[in-house]
Amino acid sequence: MVKFRIAPHIESLVPYPPGKPLEELEREYGITGSIKLASNENAWGPSPKAVAAIREALVNLHRYPDGSCHYLGAKLAERLGVQSSQIIFGNGSNEIIGLLITALVAPGEEVITCQPTFLMYQKLVQVQGACNRIVPLKDMHHDLPAILAAITGKTRLIFLDIPNNPCGTIITKAEFENFLRQVPEQVVVVLDEAYVDFVDPKVRLDALAYLPDRENEPALRKTVVTLRTFSKAYGLAGLRIGYGVMAAKLAGYLHRVRQPFNVNNLAQIGALAALDDEEHYRRTLDGTAAGMAWLAKEVAELGCRPLPSHTNFFLIDVLGNGKKLYEQMLSKGVIVRPMQAYGFPNHIRITVGQEAENHRFVAALAASMQELGYV
Ligand SMILES: *Cc1c(COP(=O)(O)O)cnc(C)c1O
Repeated sequence: MVKFRIAPHIESLVPYPPGKPLEELEREYGITGSIKLASNENAWGPSPKAVAAIREALVNLHRYPDGSCHYLGAKLAERLGVQSSQIIFGNGSNEIIGLLITALVAPGEEVITCQPTFLMYQKLVQVQGACNRIVPLKDMHHDLPAILAAITGKTRLIFLDIPNNPCGTIITKAEFENFLRQVPEQVVVVLDEAYVDFVDPKVRLDALAYLPDRENEPALRKTVVTLRTFSKAYGLAGLRIGYGVMAAKLAGYLHRVRQPFNVNNLAQIGALAALDDEEHYRRTLDGTAAGMAWLAKEVAELGCRPLPSHTNFFLIDVLGNGKKLYEQMLSKGVIVRPMQAYGFPNHIRITVGQEAENHRFVAALAASMQELGYV
């Protein structure tokens, strides 16, 4: 037998826990018509304009993609009011997270993240052989003073998901600027805005305001990176496309690190078309807001405690073991996300669905709570 040795920092990695696929659930329980509200996907499906553009592009699949994402970059730069040299696309924003860590963090250096947060940051830090410094949320919000206190001479990166996944909480502009003033110059601050579209513009942080070519007081001139994705509001999670906006010089280093064809043809074409699909975008945002309000009311009437959220998902305190409730709901064909791995044993996280899905969820929740004796 061939002997191999796994690098020690890889040996201890745990696989990412994906939401259970619908097909697998239906096979296991012998049911059909089940619903999945576990992965914060867009309940209204992909942008129809993106689907149409992709259909037309299928005949060109024998071609390598445009490695520079030229047309998409130009359109997005105009939309965001930035230079296209300040944007880099990835195979999902997940890839940009990895590129940032590879480019900025040497083995043994440190990255600060919150807990709970999006699981990929800490995982990719570990893959890189770097050190995770983990700062717990405080009352479900980013604890910015504790993050500042955790910075050392070895800190290279700080990841903040605004809004936070799984809590759905945000930070204000004043809080962020007070924090940024105290961040040492050599530390890069990453704002992961995967859910930014769902945030009320009145309380939304303008993350692009800290690019180096913007007017700012000297203390705010730090390196701030914004991550965004087509996976949520644009409904293209299966295509895998996201991007980072940052100083052109830093983007240049990420371009050196990335694979030459990291974003496929169809993803570029789909994203380009989705940017012009105002109707799908509005339907998603309006439907999410309405569904969120309805679900919060219904869930509270069942005696559970829904937590306010600035995203398309929210946590629910179910007054009992969340994992058991998750399993009970599975048998009724409703997939939610248990939260014990995130440190919330009595919570589930659900994504807002379309109206029929939301009704089905509430009915399954009510029945499961009764069966388990939670109410
Ligand atoms: C869903 C999500 C992403 C998106 O990742 P993609 O690779 O772009 O699909 C990024 N960050 C957070 C916090 C998320 O929840």
